[in-house]
Amino acid sequence: MARKWRPKSFSDMVGQEHIAKTLQNAIEGDRLHRAFLFTGTRGVGKTTSARILARTLNCKGGDPLHPCGECDSCKDIDGGNPMDVLEIDAASNTGVDNIRDVLERVQYPPVIGKYKVFIIDEVHMLSTGAFNALLKTLEEPPEHVIFIFATTEVNKVPQTILSRVQRFDFKRLTMAQIRGRLRFICEQEGINATDEALDIFAEKADGSMRDGLTYFDQAYAFTGSEMTADSVRSILGIPPVELFFSLINAIENHDLKGVFKMVDEACSRGIEFTPLLDGFGKFLRNLLYTRINAFSADDLSITEELYSKFKSVALGLSNGDLLRISKMLIDLQAQLRYSTNPRLMVETSFARMAWLDRLVDLRKALAAINDPKSAADEALKKKVAEVAEALTPEPTPEQDLSMAFGNYPETNAGAYSRYEIASAWPTICASFADDGDLVFTAALAGTRLETGDIHENPFPIALTYVGETENNTSWNYQQLQEHPEYIARLQTILEDKLQTKITLSIKTRAYTEAERQIEAAKKMSPFELDLQNEPGLAKLQEIFAAELVYSTQMKKNVAPTGDFIDSNNDN
Ligand SMILES: [Zn+2]
Repeated sequence: MARKWRPKSFSDMVGQEHIAKTLQNAIEGDRLHRAFLFTGTRGVGKTTSARILARTLNCKGGDPLHPCGECDSCKDIDGGNPMDVLEIDAASNTGVDNIRDVLERVQYPPVIGKYKVFIIDEVHMLSTGAFNALLKTLEEPPEHVIFIFATTEVNKVPQTILSRVQRFDFKRLTMAQIRGRLRFICEQEGINATDEALDIFAEKADGSMRDGLTYFDQAYAFTGSEMTADSVRSILGIPPVELFFSLINAIENHDLKGVFKMVDEACSRGIEFTPLLDGFGKFLRNLLYTRINAFSADDLSITEELYSKFKSVALGLSNGDLLRISKMLIDLQAQLRYSTNPRLMVETSFARMAWLDRLVDLRKALAAINDPKSAADEALKKKVAEVAEALTPEPTPEQDLSMAFGNYPETNAGAYSRYEIASAWPTICASFADDGDLVFTAALAGTRLETGDIHENPFPIALTYVGETENNTSWNYQQLQEHPEYIARLQTILEDKLQTKITLSIKTRAYTEAERQIEAAKKMSPFELDLQNEPGLAKLQEIFAAELVYSTQMKKNVAPTGDFIDSNNDN
């Protein structure tokens, strides 16, 4: 069919009217170049146009737009082995010797027509030597010779050649142009094809009329004169749009079974993964376009009915959903070619898309835990409260003071009871910093005061360094070792604060198990802490293969009941 309906005149050429017009003008005005260069992507009509030009130039009928098909030149060319037209495929004749053979024939005049026409296809493939040989002929071509070069890669053609040819740029064909030509052929051949069926060829052709015709031929061999969209799709292995509607429906409803069923159906229809994913990509694009009203049904080359179907589905999804699904699809397409198990990869990726909105569910779940009125699991609530407690920052000095003095009347500013001294210790340390003795302050930073029997005299106090092991190697502890005078100084300070004699000892010990947990919790991000304490979260992290990118600590107030109350002054 493709060969039979190959255009034979410029008036038949679809999509390249600008070229036909220019050539026609040149022929009519007798201002013809000796050499032409046709460039453009594959399948847009370069070689066909070259043949038409040869036919037109040599026809004796006298109508440049319509070679007569009757004269001996037309008959000679239509016969398939023309005497005056020589076609060379440069891709398989790259060498200088090949081109010399061709150029030898330049000197002989045409046998039947007015011109001897040399068509060199894929001319960019010629070797440098071959180009140089060609160039000599192009500089002084005989009157009766016409060269037509065709190339898909004009940037590889030497400038010396380009400057001696008239160049024509062939455009990719639009879907409408390809569909129109196929419709014309159907009418001529009595083939009953639906618009949708022809759209499938036009879309798959992707701008190439030759590809469009090849697909059309392929389908015609099976369908005969009744072509429906379904039959064309199944022959060309193109997934039907319904398949994508069921896929997006399954994704939207977190329906894993539906996702796997869809993949299975695609496989059983013999649809390969590459066209499946390409098709899904176009489908998602259409959803997005209809959602934001960017294009009309006509612009998208789909029926009004399909357009409204797209629209209703698109409105059920958010822009974010569509973009996330698209992103996952693009990732999948990139990874698929390296996969040894493409089906598994496609299935798991689609499954992830279906899991997407579970993130919202997670948010809801956490909200439910934090809601005091909810009937959330008491044990879980308790656990969350514990975590929150561990997370609560060390009390600030002011708070601590108010707590320390809560039940004691303040008698003497700067004095502490034996009961208070341990919990007041951080405040006392902070006051050293105010005095400006930085090394003394540093030596004591992070220490605790551990008091002995409250009734013993002198009152026993141990300045305690707590670390990973009993053997404390901290810088602070080292400072104390290097400044033994600090111990006496501290004793004086504490005796002054307590207004009593004390025995001060220095102690090092390892964290207790409880302390260790709190220390570890202080170092963890809230996210990591949640992961450790909530098996549900940990499971979700595993399912989503989540990666910690950023986490921030929010200050929470913990009411005595253990309920969360969001603080207004978040950290
Ligand atoms: Zn003719």
